[in-house]
Amino acid sequence: MTTQPARTGLEPADPSERGGTRVDGVDVLGALSPSRVGDFLSCPLLYRFRTIDRLPEPPSPAAVRGTVIHTVLERLFDLPAVERTPERAETMLAPAWADLQEAEPAVSSMFPVDGPEITEWLVSCRETLVKYFDLEDPTRLEPAERELYVETLTDTKLLLRGVIDRVDVAPDGAIRIVDYKTGNAVNEKFESKVLFQLKFYALVLWRTRGVVPKMLQLVYLGDSQVLRYEPDEQDLLATERKVQAVWQAIRLATEKGEFESRPGFGCRWCAHQALCPSYDGTPPPFPLTAAPTLPLTAVSSTPPA
Ligand code: SF4
Repeated sequence: MTTQPARTGLEPADPSERGGTRVDGVDVLGALSPSRVGDFLSCPLLYRFRTIDRLPEPPSPAAVRGTVIHTVLERLFDLPAVERTPERAETMLAPAWADLQEAEPAVSSMFPVDGPEITEWLVSCRETLVKYFDLEDPTRLEPAERELYVETLTDTKLLLRGVIDRVDVAPDGAIRIVDYKTGNAVNEKFESKVLFQLKFYALVLWRTRGVVPKMLQLVYLGDSQVLRYEPDEQDLLATERKVQAVWQAIRLATEKGEFESRPGFGCRWCAHQALCPSYDGTPPPFPLTAAPTLPLTAVSSTPPA
């Protein structure tokens, strides 16, 4: 496992889905991250558009704000502890935004030239970022890992992978997985859905380090809330069964070339309504070359670049 570069955040698939990975000569059947599992569970057609068709998605101010804030929170821990102040973090926003524009020039097109929108957006970034300091004191934290790429191969040769925002390790070896959300905390009804992502990471760490993480922590900057959960082995085994079941469903859908649209709450943010039958659109022809796996090109156990 190694640390990845900062997220750019605009690709439809998350960083762990860029390209493919073949693990040390083993014929991996496919790869899944929590985001792609979430896509398939919420709408199989969305999964297809993102993972098989790999359709581009325009940047959104909310998503890009999340990317910039994640970058600042990652870089904050490069500073000596005493310098991790809200004021110093604010000064890191502009460089993080500039770096993102350089890496992903398309983000600059989100705002009209010379309009007030960009200023308002930067203010919203600042307001969201400073809320972090109400929830944690970074001068008292020394994360073991940040933006950590993790992967593990299941017995069924399915590669589970993802990028963890932060991993803390206590002196007694207890592991805490931390994920930052720049939006508001979800309603209790949806908690299990958001916790799935962290259970997935906990499963991967358990498989690779042999220790069940002690704590999963979601830090919601939008409304200044923290959700904590202590997983156990049964949780993680259930997560593994769920991932395997989703993978079987994806394989079946791919073999049939049938990914149903499932309209719901998420449609309001979907970039593909024009191609969706639920909105009178027509999807592009299903790629004949679509294998029931992600492309497996690199022969390496290192993360995709
Ligand atoms: S618009 Fe809704 S139903 Fe259609 S692909 Fe997007 S998320 Fe799925």
